[in-house]
Amino acid sequence: MNYRIEVPQEPERGICVGCEAHEAWEEFQPGYRTVAFYCDGCGFEVEISLRDTHEWRDLGEMC
Ligand SMILES: [Zn+2]
Repeated sequence: MNYRIEVPQEPERGICVGCEAHEAWEEFQPGYRTVAFYCDGCGFEVEISLRDTHEWRDLGEMC
């Protein structure tokens, strides 16, 4: 699995969560506490819990 989380600089914009292997991307509007991304190709769903937007980038680096 090689998931990626894209966090834009502007906090008003949503985040993108995607699977690089299958080039499946989903965009989420800002303000969610939890977002769930499902990749058809992998058959996995990843759930991302957010405390605040600053931690999103750290999460992405952990993947
Ligand atoms: Zn996939």
